[in-house]
Amino acid sequence: MLIPARMSEAEEQRWVTVMLDKLAAQESRSVLGDRELTERALRLSEQYYGGRARPGSVRWVTNQNTRWGSCTPSEGSIRLSHRLQGMPEYVLDYVLLHELAHLLVPGHGPGFWRLLESYPRTERARGYLEGVVAAARLPHLPDAREE
Ligand SMILES: [Zn+2]
Repeated sequence: MLIPARMSEAEEQRWVTVMLDKLAAQESRSVLGDRELTERALRLSEQYYGGRARPGSVRWVTNQNTRWGSCTPSEGSIRLSHRLQGMPEYVLDYVLLHELAHLLVPGHGPGFWRLLESYPRTERARGYLEGVVAAARLPHLPDAREE
């Protein structure tokens, strides 16, 4: 951190605080907090389902390694695997819309997928997630790692 010369101690302290706040703001932007996640789900529900899906809470969980998301319709709660963090936003939105749809329709029947058709990137997001799963199963060939 570069501190301008000839600052008083009080000024210097203020400067450091401002810089740390900026850094913290950048970090929090990269991973949504649970509150932002819930707000995002509400906006998506509004946009694609006419606001009919009303999640009570949406939060990240780290104990979910075989599913990207899950929900408990009776509680209106949605949980997302932390493995989605860092993936493109359209993938995150797809998983949110998928779980939101389960608040309205249980299972994966035609009625369920009809809801998701309103989101234009459903197919692309499903392809992305399938690719992630497939890549995790690939053997790590020595040749592929040479540069
Ligand atoms: Zn599902």
